[in-house]
Amino acid sequence: MSWSLIIGQERIKTQLKQTLQNHRIAHAYLFYGPEGIGKDALAIEFAKAMNCETGSIEACGACKNCRRMDTFQYPNTKLVFALPSGKSEKTGDDPITVLTEAQVADVREQIQWKAKDPYHRIEVPKANFIKINSVRDIKREASMSRTEEGKKIFVILNADMMNAEASNSLLKTLEEPLPGIILLLTTSVKDQLLPTIISRCQLLQCDSLQDAEIESALISKEGVDHSIARLAAQLSQGSYGNARRLSSLNMLDERKDVVEFLRLVLGKNRATLIDAIDELASSSDRPGIERWLKLLQSWLRDALLLQQNAQTPLLDDEKKSMESFVTKFNHANLIASIQTVEKAIAHLDKNVYLHLILTTLAIDLRKFITEAPSV
Ligand SMILES: [Zn+2]
Repeated sequence: MSWSLIIGQERIKTQLKQTLQNHRIAHAYLFYGPEGIGKDALAIEFAKAMNCETGSIEACGACKNCRRMDTFQYPNTKLVFALPSGKSEKTGDDPITVLTEAQVADVREQIQWKAKDPYHRIEVPKANFIKINSVRDIKREASMSRTEEGKKIFVILNADMMNAEASNSLLKTLEEPLPGIILLLTTSVKDQLLPTIISRCQLLQCDSLQDAEIESALISKEGVDHSIARLAAQLSQGSYGNARRLSSLNMLDERKDVVEFLRLVLGKNRATLIDAIDELASSSDRPGIERWLKLLQSWLRDALLLQQNAQTPLLDDEKKSMESFVTKFNHANLIASIQTVEKAIAHLDKNVYLHLILTTLAIDLRKFITEAPSV
């Protein structure tokens, strides 16, 4: 990894590089912002740069420390995350050795995943919180005489998962910083942390990613097809994690369902439309309907681009049906149609009855698409 491999986040990257350049490194940082935007990736890259033997603002990737960091085998940098509780684990026990062999294997595997892909979300079965023993481990390691030169860095992933005991223990470490120890915390729910922990960290607010950043990362990093990457980025709410999940779903089939729904909305058979609304309302939960509505919205946006003769990358069979739609309803008010879907999405959050949302949507769409504009 190097800074350039981290998706977007230019503002934070610049800030961290300046910190490295000025050698003014604080003893604790908190990376916060929405889920799936690369907070861990930033923290890990920061740790790598601090460890690199070249002392530059960018990890060289070739020195001994960088190579060991690539597999997280560098003793000066440790990942701290939620672990299962060991059988009759007592305070002071080693947080890992109390686990079963299978659990230790799970943990190792997760660390290897994270080393390969800093956007990977570590998930160990039955790991509900960050244990006090993991935090005590930080203190123990910090006090040990060091065999390695340099700083000792602990990257605490999803720090909000610390239980009360662990939080209080970490707070003591923050109140009396140990020389040479740097803590990098990440969280997507900052409010879940003790205010006293937050106030002792340097805060780094990370932003949601741009659609274009996500789209190109899906194509270059994951080899996702262009049209799927674009769709997944549009629906991801600025989260690369969401976009990756979405791009592995059957989004193109769902988009076909959306077209089928539009066909019913614009057709003459009201009974079939009512059945379709019934089915949609009863078969999906609110997040499912929200994704479906966003797919409808992105389809209408593409149709709008086509109506305005702008470029839009579409799959061949999709292009055909969209072209015939745009030709047939050449006076369609697609901007109002897109807005009416937006309104439906907003109503979802307000817990409005699903049938009502979808029926209103169908009536409005029919009006905006079929009625000739008043002159
Ligand atoms: Zn290096």
